[in-house]
Amino acid sequence: MSPFLGEVFGNPSALHQAGRKTRNAVDLARQQVAALIQSRETEITFTSGATESITLALRGAMARLGEGTRLITSSVEHSAVTQTCKDLASSFQAEWKQISCDHSGLPDLSELQQLLQEKPNSTLVSWIWANNETGVISPLPEIAELCADTGAILHVDAVQMAGKLPIDVSTIPIHLLSLSGHKFHAPQGIGVLYRRSGVSIEPLLHGGGQEGGLRSGTENVAGIVGLGAAASWAQTQDPEPLARLRNRFEQSVRELHPNTLVHGAEAPRLPNTSNLFLPGIDGEALLLVLDHLGLCASPGSACGSSAKHPSPVLMGMGFSRSHIKSSARYSLSH
Ligand code: PLP
Repeated sequence: MSPFLGEVFGNPSALHQAGRKTRNAVDLARQQVAALIQSRETEITFTSGATESITLALRGAMARLGEGTRLITSSVEHSAVTQTCKDLASSFQAEWKQISCDHSGLPDLSELQQLLQEKPNSTLVSWIWANNETGVISPLPEIAELCADTGAILHVDAVQMAGKLPIDVSTIPIHLLSLSGHKFHAPQGIGVLYRRSGVSIEPLLHGGGQEGGLRSGTENVAGIVGLGAAASWAQTQDPEPLARLRNRFEQSVRELHPNTLVHGAEAPRLPNTSNLFLPGIDGEALLLVLDHLGLCASPGSACGSSAKHPSPVLMGMGFSRSHIKSSARYSLSH
C-alpha cells in the first residue's frame, strides 16, 4: 500500500501515466478479490466497508423490487442488516420477517421455505453466513437453493467467512454478497459488494460513474490495494491450526471452569470464534480484568459494545438477559 499513500497518487479515472498506474493497481486488486470468492472481476464493486455494501445491496435491490416486497432475515444478523431492514420496512412499506434460530444458532428452514412460497418473486432475503458473535455457520447452500426455487433475491453477509473459510459463488446461487476488508487483515474502511451478472440494483451514490456506475466517487486506491493483497494472502491460509488453537483455548477454560458453555458448539463453526458462557461470572467485569492483562475481548459485536444492550445475537438464539450477562466473545487469529 505504501507507494499509493505517497508517490503514486494519480486518479484511476485519469488517462495520464499517473492515472494508468493506479488503474492497473485497482484492476489487479479486483482480480485478487474475484479469486477469493470465485467470481468474475466485473462482479466486484469496491465500497467503504460492509455497512455500505449491505446498504447498497438491500436498498438497491428494494428500489428495483418496489413497494410491498417481503424482507426475510435470520434472527441473528449484524446491526448493519437489521437497522437497514428497519429503515426499508418503513420507507418501502415492506413486511420484514425474522426467522428464529435455536440455542445452537441454527434456523428452522421449513419456516423460511413457507415464507418464500407465500410470496414468490417478490421477496428479498438477507442472511448472515458465519455469525460475528458465535462463529456459527448457517446452511447457506440450502438457503440459496430455497431462494432460487422461489425466485427470491438473496444477499449474503459473508463478512466473517472471508479469510477464514473458502467462499465459492460459482457453485452457490447467491445474487449479492458483502465483505469487509478489516476482517481478513486488509485496512479498515474498505469493502466489497459482489453482484452476480444480470442482477440489477439501484446505486446509492451518483456521480462520475466509477465501479461500473454502481458506486460513484474516486476510488480509495491504497485501501483497494491492501484489500487485494489481503485477499491473496487469505487464500494461502490453512484454517486447521487456527481451529486447533481455538479448541485448546476452550478446553483450557473448561478445565478452569467446568460449567463453561460454548455457544454454538453443536453447530458448524468458524475456526477462530469462541463465545463462552461462564456461569456466576459477570461478563463485563471479566472483560475489564482481561483488558487490564492486555487481552482484548468483547461482550458481543465490537460495534454494539458501547450500546449497553444485551447481545442481539444471543437474544436471537433464545438466551435470557442474565445468561447473556455472563457471556463474552473471544476471537483468535492466524
Ligand atoms: N456484518 C458483520 C457480520 C460484521 O461482523 C460486521 C462488522 O463487524 C459488519 C457486517 C459491518 O462491517 P463494517 O463495520 O466494516 O462496515
